[in-house]
Amino acid sequence: MRLAIKNQRILKTKINEENLDEVTYKYFHDWYKSIINKKYERAKKLCINFIKFCKTTIKLSSWGELNINYNKVLISAILFRGLQEFVYIKERTKNKKWNKSNKEVEYNWIILQDCKDRLDFAYQYLTETEIIDNVLNEIQLIDKLFKVSFGIGKYISPEILIKKSVCNICNEDVRSCNHISGRIYNGKVCYGLPVDPSIRAVSLVDVPRDLRCRIWGWQIEGTMLKDVCIMTSFAVDDFLNQDEYQKVGIFCSFVINDNEIFSEYEFINGVNNQHYQANP
Ligand SMILES: [Zn+2]
Repeated sequence: MRLAIKNQRILKTKINEENLDEVTYKYFHDWYKSIINKKYERAKKLCINFIKFCKTTIKLSSWGELNINYNKVLISAILFRGLQEFVYIKERTKNKKWNKSNKEVEYNWIILQDCKDRLDFAYQYLTETEIIDNVLNEIQLIDKLFKVSFGIGKYISPEILIKKSVCNICNEDVRSCNHISGRIYNGKVCYGLPVDPSIRAVSLVDVPRDLRCRIWGWQIEGTMLKDVCIMTSFAVDDFLNQDEYQKVGIFCSFVINDNEIFSEYEFINGVNNQHYQANP
């Protein structure tokens, strides 16, 4: 309880069931005003403070300590995380040299996808969409910057063998439980967690399920593809689950057969799980 009160003080207004919507939109408007006035540091701070409050509140949900709609708090947290990522990517790409460092390009691309996925998720629950529409338009412009510098890209799509998936809400097999993947239950997004997944094959595609698995020109060395990302651990609420936020990606190296087609493939170094820092 003490933590919640402390964070509410950061927000200056005490949030409760009645004013939750009002305060969220007030912050949202404040954030947008900062963006328009190019006060990016302030915009970022607003996001961090608001997310902190949401995190603490959601933690309290398991004890039922506060009379508040936890689903709404979760949606707000995801929205503000997306906004925080937007500030980051906007700042990064305004620098003329934004596309010069390979590592940064790869990293910024991932943040951009995280940002889009979170804002798309939050969008469906917002009653007021004018600001978010403007933000999404700006994101399209950032997308264009990538397109101009690096084209539309080629992507990796993994074929994964999953024996079964377990629901993260009730721990039952997803085929027999009543929860629906992607819906929110008491401040938690529902997922199916795969049990012992194994990667069977990968293919090269133009339209992947996960845009983070992009192949970059600098990863191609002769007939080899080096350290390409074939899967990530992204989830819209992943930043809430760990205190030390770490994302996991699976990276592999391949021999390219038949020039461009992975009709056959071979893991060179086996599969590597790598933690990559993605905390804007
Ligand atoms: Zn379930």
